[in-house]
Amino acid sequence: MFDELLDFLFPPRCVWCDQQGEYLCNTCKKDLKPHSEMCPICQSASPDYQVCLGCRASDEDFPLEGIVIWFSYAETIKKLILALKFGHRSHIAWFLSQRLSLLIQSHPQLSQAMQSQKLLLTYVPSHWIRKYRVKGYNQSELLAQELGVLLDTPVARLTRRVKYTRSQTKLNRKKRLSNLIWVFGSQQERDIAWDETILIVDDITTTWSTLIHVAHQIKEKHPTVKVWGVVVGRHGV
Ligand SMILES: [Zn+2]
Ligand SMILES: [Zn+2]
Repeated sequence: MFDELLDFLFPPRCVWCDQQGEYLCNTCKKDLKPHSEMCPICQSASPDYQVCLGCRASDEDFPLEGIVIWFSYAETIKKLILALKFGHRSHIAWFLSQRLSLLIQSHPQLSQAMQSQKLLLTYVPSHWIRKYRVKGYNQSELLAQELGVLLDTPVARLTRRVKYTRSQTKLNRKKRLSNLIWVFGSQQERDIAWDETILIVDDITTTWSTLIHVAHQIKEKHPTVKVWGVVVGRHGV
């Protein structure tokens, strides 16, 4: 409803070429080139965006199986993500998550996990938000929620059970991490099965530091799960 009013008052324009009609016109959509499949550590070619064998052997600590990147040149996508804050959220989140869902459905490991109902979506929690993200608004969460609908896959929030008691502050880091819980749609909690695959959704990233941080937290509590990342775009190269 709010979006419809906004569309009426401010007809959508292409965020890239300013043509009226859509947030991303068909010409510009065609320019969106998928990112090449690469290892997230050494950036050499690697099928399905998996950590390559060499890096897997030398960096046993890397908590992710791989990071799926939809888009290589992030400027257009960055504009789309920023447009999310002006209220046209449903259109843009829908467009972005539709593309992401195709990517996930065609990814061997992720689609297999999805089909055996072992895939769980999550996102970077708000308190780990990075500097350029719109304050008070979590785009990754919105994308994860849309993806959950498209893929018919549960979305969980990774959170810590916080008890505001004095004893909490005395707990060491490891103990506090063991309080990590998963909250689903209607605030119900459940634990994670040992063989689940957890996919962390993020919007645009420059480094993998946030994804790695979240993945480490998951692996500390659930060492046997497989953690993947998926990002809309990647800066640099
Ligand atoms: Zn355009
Ligand atoms: Zn590598």
